[in-house]
Amino acid sequence: MKTPEYRQRLDEHTRPGTLWRPGAAPGSVVCVACPQRCRLEEGRRGACGLRFCHDGVLQVPWGYTSSVAVDPLEKKPFFHVCPGAGVLSFGTLGCTLRCPFCQNWAISQTVRDDRALVLPRPTAIEDLLAGAAASGSAWIAATYNEPLIAVEWVLAVFEAARRRGLRTAVVSNGYASPETLAALTPCLDAANIDLKCFTEAGYRQLGGHLAPVQDCIRGLHAAGVWVEVTTLVVPGFSDDPAELAAAADFLAGVSPDLPWHLSAYHPDYRLLDGPAPTSPEALQSACDLGRQHGLRFVYAGNLADRHGQGDTRCPGCSTALIRRRGFAVVERHLTAEGHCPHCGTRLAGIWY
Ligand code: SF4
Repeated sequence: MKTPEYRQRLDEHTRPGTLWRPGAAPGSVVCVACPQRCRLEEGRRGACGLRFCHDGVLQVPWGYTSSVAVDPLEKKPFFHVCPGAGVLSFGTLGCTLRCPFCQNWAISQTVRDDRALVLPRPTAIEDLLAGAAASGSAWIAATYNEPLIAVEWVLAVFEAARRRGLRTAVVSNGYASPETLAALTPCLDAANIDLKCFTEAGYRQLGGHLAPVQDCIRGLHAAGVWVEVTTLVVPGFSDDPAELAAAADFLAGVSPDLPWHLSAYHPDYRLLDGPAPTSPEALQSACDLGRQHGLRFVYAGNLADRHGQGDTRCPGCSTALIRRRGFAVVERHLTAEGHCPHCGTRLAGIWY
């Protein structure tokens, strides 16, 4: 358990939130930010450990970051959003899930794991906007940990960013409530959602449920937000071909144009002695499955050499239109408006 001093540092960076309602018991609240819908009496914390009831009001994370950097949009990953553009990226602390293979556990599991000692850094919205301006970033993204745990703060940043002409993105586990989606989507341009696996049993191991993540992906797409999906292919957890095929069927049902990033797993966090890394062959098979099940854009990620599996090809004539090496765009043949110059097919995405 974290020391009271550490919790106090986190609690100093909170303010009354909006995504809650009064509970049945006097002075209690119900947080509605995620599907957990924690019912909290005075002084109690939600399952995430960051939102808590104080004086009959829900206090929520506000006014801090854990990390800020300028990344290429490809690193989020977004492959159908302004190729090669920079994005001012910021993270906070905490997560609604507890994945044993988390690659960002030092900030995502900060409330649960004594080894995660990153402290909140006070940050003004203006600091983030100035950082975007100084770096020439036209985009700002809430990423690194689960951003929707601090949805009110993210929303305030995005509203200010939109007023400055910036575009906005989240990289999220998709464990969001309908209330959170309704609040966020009016000022959200793009989202990359982690689909951890495609079974309820798998999600239960991580502390969540599958259906709300499916609802989130459907809801974002229906609201006109550009959606890409990432699945870390963990041997023995999320690499079953039937499960991957079912996931592809679901995603293609939302839209065959929805890009699916299949990422290679490397041992990390609580699985340092766990399964071996995903092999390039296994990842290739998973990508093939995605395409066979109707998805037009399936990408391999987290490999030193993707053998072209990170390139964007025209679904009309198969011409390679964007070639990538790592996170760098090395060739772009798509027209400025997103058309294939050979056959004229319009590729789905935000291209300018
Ligand atoms: S965001 Fe936290 S407090 Fe709110 S419902 Fe989810 S786990 Fe509970």
